[in-house]
Amino acid sequence: MILSPFLGWPVQTELLQTLYKDLSRGHVPHTMLFVGPIEQTRVVTEFLAKTLLCSGPSAPCGSCESCRQFASGNHPDYLVVDAQGNAAIKTGQVEQVQERLKLRAHFGGRLIYVLHRMDTATPVAANRLLKTLEEPSAQIIALLTATNAGRVLPTIRSRCFLYRLDADDSHPAGAAQENPELAEPSPDAAAQTSQSEAIATVSERVIQWTQELLCQPEPPLLLADSFLKISSALELSEALDILSSWLRDVLHYRIGDYGQVRQMRQKAELEKQSASATPVQLGKMIELVLGAKSRLNAHVLPNLNMEQLCIRLREVK
Ligand SMILES: [Zn+2]
Repeated sequence: MILSPFLGWPVQTELLQTLYKDLSRGHVPHTMLFVGPIEQTRVVTEFLAKTLLCSGPSAPCGSCESCRQFASGNHPDYLVVDAQGNAAIKTGQVEQVQERLKLRAHFGGRLIYVLHRMDTATPVAANRLLKTLEEPSAQIIALLTATNAGRVLPTIRSRCFLYRLDADDSHPAGAAQENPELAEPSPDAAAQTSQSEAIATVSERVIQWTQELLCQPEPPLLLADSFLKISSALELSEALDILSSWLRDVLHYRIGDYGQVRQMRQKAELEKQSASATPVQLGKMIELVLGAKSRLNAHVLPNLNMEQLCIRLREVK
């Protein structure tokens, strides 16, 4: 899609610039999670929704029918659920969004929904949302926000492209003023940072690990051992979520369904790894990883579980 210059975006960070480039190439992530002060995440999601809905030549153009409806505050294809004050996002609110998503877009284009403060959602509401995230549609875009990424359900987080807006390189512009309460780094914020750093580190290493699985003859028991080491910073179930999410990316890349690829930044790895397995093999691997994850709940010892998984993965490839 053709976008107006990035300089016009209300918040500018390196990650948002990556997003801008992805959108320009027609890679629109289906599920994005923006983490940062609530005012900033509101400004960014609103601007992004307007951009993705615009049908003009330089989005957001401000003058097409969609942009005009957006400015009037009643765009029919734009849904926002905002947790008010201390209230949590409730199941009923998620269900309302899901009902609307069953209908076609008024303008025949995208449907965009925003769920603010996913970190406040009740577990039931978050699990309900998971159903929608698991069945992505090309025309439906989810923009989620949170002030604390560590409190978003890991199964939701692992399905999202994560954009932190409170990184050092962010320069809020315009009316977006940070809430002074949130400006002070709290112990909670520190825990959140270390949690998302752990996720980022584990993600990187899982990608390397998958490369060993797909492109090298690494024996299964060594693979099991190195996966357990990689995942030690997180719960094993979270690391398996990261693994299945990455394998899905490789599969989508393999079949040319680029809109579904969450980590397009890892293009070199996607290229290399997807060339090393067939779509059927990749599908089978994802199934095996999900199976291993469900066995965790059945209290199978983690190392035994991982060894079984890696032996089966080696049988596939
Ligand atoms: Zn427009």
